[in-house]
Amino acid sequence: MDQKQYDYAIVGAGAAGLQLLLKMIADPFFNEKTILVLEPDTKDANDRTWCFWEKGVTLWDELSTHTWPRGLFINRKETIDFDLTPYRYKMVRSAQFYTYAKEQILRARHVVWVKEAVTNVAGQEITTIRDTYFANHLFDSRIPKEFNQVKDRYHSLIQHFKGWFIKTEKPEFDPGTFTMMDYRLKWKDSTSFTYVLPISENEALVEFTLFNDTMLENDEYDQFLSCYIQDYLKIENYEITEVEQGQIPMSDYPFHKHHEKHLTKIGTAGGWVRPSSGYSFKNADRYSSMMVENIKLGRKPEHGIATSRFRTYDSIFLNVLASRNDLGEEIFTRLYTKPAMQSVFRFLDEESSFSEDLKVMFSLNRPQFWKAFLSTFWK
Ligand SMILES: Cc1cc2nc3c(=O)[nH]c(=O)nc-3n(C[C@H](O)[C@H](O)[C@H](O)COP(=O)(O)OP(=O)(O)OC[C@H]3O[C@@H](n4cnc5c(N)ncnc54)[C@H](O)[C@@H]3O)c2cc1C
Repeated sequence: MDQKQYDYAIVGAGAAGLQLLLKMIADPFFNEKTILVLEPDTKDANDRTWCFWEKGVTLWDELSTHTWPRGLFINRKETIDFDLTPYRYKMVRSAQFYTYAKEQILRARHVVWVKEAVTNVAGQEITTIRDTYFANHLFDSRIPKEFNQVKDRYHSLIQHFKGWFIKTEKPEFDPGTFTMMDYRLKWKDSTSFTYVLPISENEALVEFTLFNDTMLENDEYDQFLSCYIQDYLKIENYEITEVEQGQIPMSDYPFHKHHEKHLTKIGTAGGWVRPSSGYSFKNADRYSSMMVENIKLGRKPEHGIATSRFRTYDSIFLNVLASRNDLGEEIFTRLYTKPAMQSVFRFLDEESSFSEDLKVMFSLNRPQFWKAFLSTFWK
């Protein structure tokens, strides 16, 4: 076999690429297959804090910085306290995950890691600045250029945020309860909120987030964070130990159309971000397992992934938020408090039955929803 010819190639070792790779390494089906990973970064930074809900004890508990059994949802009228059982909300910091993944990869002799950026992919041929590689099948986490050019033709918002890890002088937090969304402090009349993830009585990640299409100046996020900590958390003395900032596309753009015969788009590039919530880390876990099973069954790897009826619901949801961004507080209040939180988690995990979906959708009962619903089905 030519040295540069592989059974599989993974372009981009981020949340999706690494989760897929770990599942392949763990499955004896791939023991005799060669896997190439192409990634320009060293993958050792805490560049993302991934949070998600999950039932039971899994690998993520081992890698979690903290987990929470209870949550709060706060709007301008009320504070709702919910018990997540049987779920827990979990926080995995990227550096921890990258280190774990690299340890597993070092032991896998059929995996070749090349620290290079891919410049082009044509069929089964992959080009970097230095070399050319071939793979029978490629998994590609690069976001298609077309998405940025045409996303405005779809229902598209940006989830953008800045967060501070803070350390307080005195014990200020309850490490058993996180705040999922607090709508008391908003940027103009937009869908914007703060969330608080206490890691101990003295430490928390406080993040100001917007779901809209207007990026703020860097110091505007800082002003909101500082105001929230002082006026709502009532904390005077604290130190900022780390900063996290980012953006996540929330769009009903059909990412799946970029799959090719020998290429499957993965991660954000494969539409793995749930458009209505921006969550995708747990999807990467679920979808990677599905892909491994599909490959073993001789199906296309992307079979049944990120194209279900839930995308239609998300499209309706985005349609409303894009046209009436001021409704975010009310919509999320209804979504997270009317049905039981567990039903919403099942819905967001794409595990709910059609009747449960209807309950969730009916909880959002508002003229804008019915209008968006009709325009989705009678285009
Ligand atoms: C700061 C931040 C916080 C987030 N928090 C959450 C959260 O709490 N919960 C949640 O569910 N989701 C969260 N997300 C959303 C989502 O889970 C992450 O963006 C996730 O990392 C997406 O996985 P990915 O593999 O698609 O992309 P990435 O993890 O970004 O990985 C893409 C990889 O491709 C590599 N790459 C890029 N170009 C090339 C190239 N030309 N050749 C080869 N490799 C290339 C990059 O270096 C990178 O390693 C967050 C996103 C951000 C940015």
